[in-house]
Amino acid sequence: MNRRRFLISSAALLPATLRGSVARAQEPQAASAFSRERAIAGWRSRIEDFLGRGALPIVDTQATYHHSIDVEFIVREMDANGIAQVAFAPFAGDGSAASFALYEKYPQYFIPTTADGSSEHFYWYPDRFVSDVIAEIKTGRYFLMGEYELRHYPSPRQWRAGRMDRDVTVSLDSKAVHELFRFSEENKVAFLIHYEVEDVLLPPLEALLSRYPGAPVVWAHVGQVRYHNRTKRYGPDYVRALITRFPNLRFDLGSMVYPGQVYPGSGDRDMILYQFTGPPQGGYLKPEWKALFNEHPERFLAASDIDAGRFRQFPDIIQRMRRLIFSELTDRALHQIAYRNAWRLITGEAWGD
Ligand SMILES: [Zn+2]
Repeated sequence: MNRRRFLISSAALLPATLRGSVARAQEPQAASAFSRERAIAGWRSRIEDFLGRGALPIVDTQATYHHSIDVEFIVREMDANGIAQVAFAPFAGDGSAASFALYEKYPQYFIPTTADGSSEHFYWYPDRFVSDVIAEIKTGRYFLMGEYELRHYPSPRQWRAGRMDRDVTVSLDSKAVHELFRFSEENKVAFLIHYEVEDVLLPPLEALLSRYPGAPVVWAHVGQVRYHNRTKRYGPDYVRALITRFPNLRFDLGSMVYPGQVYPGSGDRDMILYQFTGPPQGGYLKPEWKALFNEHPERFLAASDIDAGRFRQFPDIIQRMRRLIFSELTDRALHQIAYRNAWRLITGEAWGD
């Protein structure tokens, strides 16, 4: 196995020497002693540990924590799969403090991230939710904001369960959304949006991005298109055009979707990054998307999109991302997408060598 293969592969990670630093990482820090510099130094150290052993570290920027998740399982799988850090945005019912508590227990593993806007806590009460999150960011304890559902279709699992309450719309003209974009732009704190891809939805988003061009926004789930007949404009050329227009817009690769997945609402294969070749996981990254990722690697982020319902699939998702996407990247793109872009977004600084 050459070095590049080794970097992409998840095998052979975490030799015994690294376990020593893992054990040290588990010593809790007193909350009163919290220091952003110390947090960043701890994350850097764990990333460097992986690199030093020829493993490619991943920083996962999209994941939803819930108190029912087996955190020991997550930590074990992070070690086994080369995942340096997870920005674990808590389900809003658990509150942002749950993410900070994870950080305190495993300081090298978790990035304090404010509560996820993927529940009614946000979309029924957006003003209150956004003002609460802004107050939490101002404590200095959080580095990233979670995912905000601005337009969300029920996931395949939710669709099959009849969860049409998960068909969510929050107006891009609402006070809360403007407040979120404005705060992010002024304070350079990043957040994720979940926004379905449809021709009619694109102009309002472009208008919002034009109004707040300095806001570091991550549009989650690149290439996920639920209804093909509502979507003629979107594709790698459209994403490239947005990258050119909006210097602070990024996209994440967070998706449970495998090449053959069919969205039950439409009957369409909903991950257009892939050419489907056989049941159900068979496929490959389409050349036009591969070209885009390698041309603008600074705009894409690694992400798992795990949550309480699917966290056991964490290793499978990460391995799929390595197999289907990372294996197609140039060395430069690989390191940027796996951890360097996340590093810049979270710490505000370039990774450096
Ligand atoms: Zn989402």
